[in-house]
Amino acid sequence: MSEPFTPDELEAARKLFARETKFMMGAVNMAGLPDSDLPEVAFAGRSNVGKSSLINAVTGRTHLARASNEPGRTREVNFFVLDERLRLVDLPGYGFARAAKGEVKKFQNLGRDYLRGRPNLKRAYLLIDARHGLKPVDGEAMDAFDTAAVSYQIVLTKADKLKAAEVAAVTEKTLKQIAKRPAAFPRVLATSSEKGTGIPDLRAEIAAACEIAL
Ligand code: GDP
Repeated sequence: MSEPFTPDELEAARKLFARETKFMMGAVNMAGLPDSDLPEVAFAGRSNVGKSSLINAVTGRTHLARASNEPGRTREVNFFVLDERLRLVDLPGYGFARAAKGEVKKFQNLGRDYLRGRPNLKRAYLLIDARHGLKPVDGEAMDAFDTAAVSYQIVLTKADKLKAAEVAAVTEKTLKQIAKRPAAFPRVLATSSEKGTGIPDLRAEIAAACEIAL
């Protein structure tokens, strides 16, 4: 696969994400969402997939997304603003076995309502643990994106835990699995928040999705 971004674009994206990212707010219902006045990208995935770590890595911050992992915060849709130009949206993690069933439904519904009703949502990133690949519960998340016609891209996390050939294999397999999904972006990004792998590319993807000229 050819490199989608030039070195200049990657550098411009690095500079964009070096600007200030602030925690804006957490919303517990649709009425509590901020105005849809800035482009947004959303991050979704199973609990423990590495979502907070990825948001921190992309923004170059250590503790930014930690708030979302605190008890009570996990049910919220959390908004972070980058340079007053775009928002990163942390959706509630799913597949969290310890939460009561009713509670799970409640915050999953909020995630779903957000996807359906957000005109400024430019793309969703569906995080998948590179070691595990797509699971049935991820299929449900993809169904929700496809139904809502929200463009989404698969981001493999924790790629540092695998050998390069294994990452290549899971990337290929995932591409095949999403081939018939109407709203899936046909490029799978392998990342490691720990090593920084794929993070420059993800920044460039986000900037492009938000139509910010690099
Ligand atoms: P979240 O629940 O999806 O927000 O997941 P976290 O970001 O809290 O990460 C869950 C666990 O995975 C933590 O123990 C992290 O240290 C670990 N983790 C996250 N990203 C990476 C990564 O890129 N590489 C490795 N090896 N571990 C990671």
